[in-house]
Amino acid sequence: MCNYTQREYACGHFVWLASKHCEAYKTSKSGRTKCEPNVTAFEERPESMCGECWPAQHHPWTAEFMRQLSVQR
Ligand SMILES: [Zn+2]
Ligand SMILES: [Zn+2]
Repeated sequence: MCNYTQREYACGHFVWLASKHCEAYKTSKSGRTKCEPNVTAFEERPESMCGECWPAQHHPWTAEFMRQLSVQR
């Protein structure tokens, strides 16, 4: 099994961050051996959103930035 850290965001989503891969994962030819994730640690990020929620809801400048890009083209 591979060790994972479960990081929870304010939006309610969470991600698993691999902290240590087991030998089965490392030596597999595809690099995608299916292991049961072994969550060994938890992190809370009450001040952050996950990657999907963050730009749309909390970075209004992202929309402005994209608008400027499209103008320049
Ligand atoms: Zn593993
Ligand atoms: Zn989210």
